[in-house]
Amino acid sequence: MAFWDVVVVGGGIVGLATCYHLSRMGAKTLLLTAKGLGDGASGANAGRAQVNEGNLDALNIRMVKEGIKRFDQLEDELGSRFEHRRLGYICIIRKEKDWQDWVHRSVVLSENGIPTQMMDVKTLKELEPELNTDGLLGAAYSLEGSMNPFQYCWAYARAARRFGAEIRMFTPVTSMESKGQRIISVHSEQERFEADKIAVMCGAWTRPVLRLAEVNLPVNHTHAEAFITEPLPSVMHTVLGLADFYEIIHERAQAVAIGVGPLANGTLLVTEAVTQTRELHDKTTAWGLSGVARDLLALYPSLSNARVMRGWGRPTPFTPDGNPVVGWVSPYENLFVGAGFIQTMTVTPVMSEWMAGMILEKEISEDFSLYAPDRFLRESQGLLQ
Ligand SMILES: Cc1cc2nc3c(=O)[nH]c(=O)nc-3n(C[C@H](O)[C@H](O)[C@H](O)COP(=O)(O)OP(=O)(O)OC[C@H]3O[C@@H](n4cnc5c(N)ncnc54)[C@H](O)[C@@H]3O)c2cc1C
Repeated sequence: MAFWDVVVVGGGIVGLATCYHLSRMGAKTLLLTAKGLGDGASGANAGRAQVNEGNLDALNIRMVKEGIKRFDQLEDELGSRFEHRRLGYICIIRKEKDWQDWVHRSVVLSENGIPTQMMDVKTLKELEPELNTDGLLGAAYSLEGSMNPFQYCWAYARAARRFGAEIRMFTPVTSMESKGQRIISVHSEQERFEADKIAVMCGAWTRPVLRLAEVNLPVNHTHAEAFITEPLPSVMHTVLGLADFYEIIHERAQAVAIGVGPLANGTLLVTEAVTQTRELHDKTTAWGLSGVARDLLALYPSLSNARVMRGWGRPTPFTPDGNPVVGWVSPYENLFVGAGFIQTMTVTPVMSEWMAGMILEKEISEDFSLYAPDRFLRESQGLLQ
């Protein structure tokens, strides 16, 4: 039986990019994923490399800055195109309190190398002539990245394989075997895989997968539905989102918060109808489609005859304090987790390299104690007592 340096569990962008860096650093790496590559949130998202909506702590700002810089040469590094381009993002503001918050945010971001400017309604209307600006105070504007998220996943997968990684699709991990403080193997229905280290990078599925090792880590999720229109190349020129996105969805069983932007082929990708649910599934609902259509038309009345081509839904992971979980999982000494990122598409190129370094116990210049999984485990886990 083969023995692996590292088994990565989860074939979303986080697992695939980390698998690439592990292999590139010389580790014998196997990635196991439940279905196809990018079948979770990573292939289902809006493909935005967001820059201005995340936490303002120094570590997050550095990750965003470094991540964005990497995109300039990432397609060449990975040897595959994933339709990366720079695109403007306008975060529209409807409340005085949000305007004040964004004035502060734009100063902090700009001072730290992520240029963000406040925009009045007149300028907004010049930029997006078809936007209904009634009731808007203005917007915050930044230049972010845009990509095809499936191709992004596959670019990492192909590059990982070139460095010798083995990637197995349709191989869900169903159990883990431990001995003392080590996980000695992970199992699918058919096979057993022995490894020195296990990295669980399963997005919204992180919690059930870690339960296989009797670890209860609060990686929660919301379910988000998205839709795509027929090609409408001249309606929108930038990506648009809402400053009160998190306020709208917070603690609501169901809510709609619009994010919309043009893809490279001229279609509009419209997100999202959000449901709080314990279930992990990929369904769309009539409620989601009609709610998104209603709110989108309030912003872009000219889209009233636009046809929706298809829709989908996926769970997105988040943690109770809004920071990701990155690091070793007690009480085990060889079980690593990386999940719950914000601005995942942006930070992945740099975060995955750092995580691969951590897993291989290399010297890392960054301090990740803010993200340590043990911050939750101390309170919630019987295993530690
Ligand atoms: C509609 C929508 C729009 C979004 N828009 C954006 C955006 O524009 N920009 C952005 O940065 N983020 C966006 N997000 C969030 C982003 O998609 C996620 O944060 C990110 O994809 C999570 O990546 P991941 O690799 O951690 O998880 P996932 O991509 O969910 O991957 C987890 C993988 O684990 C696998 N898995 C599950 N159980 C097992 C098991 N037992 N064994 C093996 N494998 C298993 C799954 O099959 C899956 O492939 C959006 C999300 C949604 C739903």
